[in-house]
Amino acid sequence: MTKVLKWLGYTALVLVIISIPAYWWLAMESHVPSSARYSIDMTAVRRLADASVADLPVAIRVETIGHLMVPEAFTIAGGGWQKLDMPVSAYEIVYKDHAVVVDTAFNADVAKQMGANVFDDAAYARLGVALAAAQLIIVTHEHPDHVGGLLAQPNLKDLMGKARLTQVQVTALKKAIREAQISTPNVSLAAFDGYQGIDDEPYQTIAPGVVLIKAPGHTPGSQMVFVKRADGQEILFLGDVAWQMRNIEKVRERPRFVTWLAEEDRAAVMGEFVELHRLHAAEPNLNMMPGHDSAELTRFLQAGLLTKGF
Ligand SMILES: [Zn+2]
Repeated sequence: MTKVLKWLGYTALVLVIISIPAYWWLAMESHVPSSARYSIDMTAVRRLADASVADLPVAIRVETIGHLMVPEAFTIAGGGWQKLDMPVSAYEIVYKDHAVVVDTAFNADVAKQMGANVFDDAAYARLGVALAAAQLIIVTHEHPDHVGGLLAQPNLKDLMGKARLTQVQVTALKKAIREAQISTPNVSLAAFDGYQGIDDEPYQTIAPGVVLIKAPGHTPGSQMVFVKRADGQEILFLGDVAWQMRNIEKVRERPRFVTWLAEEDRAAVMGEFVELHRLHAAEPNLNMMPGHDSAELTRFLQAGLLTKGF
């Protein structure tokens, strides 16, 4: 009996010894690898944004379609297990007589698959109206909580005519649909018949005052969206390069188990964090909007950087 107890004791000890470094590696460790390289030339980005000063955006609206409640430990390496509110939003860049939609959140099905706690049917209905009226539709990346709201629209064929997905986003989306990956929007490959994605450039102007900044890492087709408003305010939508501002402030990635599940290029993302951290300090007037950050969303609304509701 004593022998058995001893054996059990040793086994438990070995398990603990193995699991401590495993937990640390999977859930807590986040360093900047030497291969992490990324830079944004803001002079070049601003030159592109200023090319058409005649008609810059007059406002940016936000519509929060749903909320995910996620343990902080999923969003930043070494985070606690208390739950964080992660809003899932769409944005509308408003000009005098037209608008550009950036990100389309998700529909009710995808929200359910992703375990969303809240889904706002009225907000989703307003998104549908905004998409139908938009001049252009762009997404920060090809994940279902950003492109799902577009792909679920009944008039998708018409909307694809003004959607400016990048070639890399289209390739990644087709792959996800073909492989029926988890929480892929319920859409067939036929939606992309004859669709030609836009070229992937480091920086490109998509509309007056709106510049796409290529940022692969979280997904192959990830990009940031720089917007210069007519009143001079500058906003950089980070997409899901960073879910929360604290990732940039602390230069800490999502934990490694999330990186693996999401099939991220961790070194690329860390390179982007280093550059965004530098820019955040160097350019305090450049307002960064992470992908799912409740506190930043509130700050943007209070500062008049965003207007609530489409
Ligand atoms: Zn997202």
